[in-house]
Amino acid sequence: MRAERNQTTLAAPCTVSGRGYWSGATNCLTFLPAPADSGIRFVRTDLLGHPSVLAVVENRDSMPLRTCLSRGRAEVDMVEHVLAALHGLQIDNAIVHCTACEMPAMDGSSFAFTLALQAVGRVDLQEVRPTLTLDRTIRVGDDRQWIVAQPLPSPMPSSGLVADPRQRLELEYRLDFGPDSPILKSSHAIRLEPKTFFETICAARTFIGVETAQMLQARGMAKHVTEQDLIVFDRHGPVNNRLRYPDECARHKLLDLIGDLAVTGVDVVGRITSHRGGHQLNGQMSTALRELFAQQNPPNNIQPLRSPARAA
Ligand SMILES: [Zn+2]
Repeated sequence: MRAERNQTTLAAPCTVSGRGYWSGATNCLTFLPAPADSGIRFVRTDLLGHPSVLAVVENRDSMPLRTCLSRGRAEVDMVEHVLAALHGLQIDNAIVHCTACEMPAMDGSSFAFTLALQAVGRVDLQEVRPTLTLDRTIRVGDDRQWIVAQPLPSPMPSSGLVADPRQRLELEYRLDFGPDSPILKSSHAIRLEPKTFFETICAARTFIGVETAQMLQARGMAKHVTEQDLIVFDRHGPVNNRLRYPDECARHKLLDLIGDLAVTGVDVVGRITSHRGGHQLNGQMSTALRELFAQQNPPNNIQPLRSPARAA
């Protein structure tokens, strides 16, 4: 069995449109195929000159409750659910035309993006997808919140088992807001593969406490958003809504992690465990993983990503 896989892109264009949570602005996304080594590039077609930004660690901005990318005038907000759909389905190269800064919120999950991308399918390209096989443990965070990335355990020689030659990333999220929270302590673990992502993760929705929701709306943000557009928790549980899975919140945190790891631009082989992590720690882990990849692959071995002109 091959230890690596080929890069991929979309088999055909597809579109998804909807309003952003924060701004309320309508954004029509058009996903387009792109050549190998292009990565994921967002193009602001609503701005003069169509500036673009690549989804890489260097362009990532930490914002409260979400992930943004920016480079020069090209800014895209709340990209994690779009990137999760692409990364979860193993679509490595794509151009995403946007007609606004903030990504469509849809139902608070990656479901609509995943469905649209799944419908057109993906095609293999000739080049090999870069892979980072973890050979050491990386930890970010503190005692309260942390993320650990570590090598997969190899079977004991005495067990008679042979190592699984398939490269894989195992992910686990441990959610714990304390004994008084209406969001119950839970955890969820997966092996990241397109089928698993589609069937168990992509429909898990974002969630928020009722106090935060009220505070945001009092500041004039997310005025159009109702309890049906995401999960709002009060002390009794979800307000005017029902969970899709008992551990939907832990699954959504995994979805966010998958989206935030997309900026590494590599397939990680190993096990990543997040204990109460969020976008900020996800960003720190992505940076650390990219640095490890650079160490393992000195610059003359790394293919530079294509320029926008060549990618378009
Ligand atoms: Zn999210």
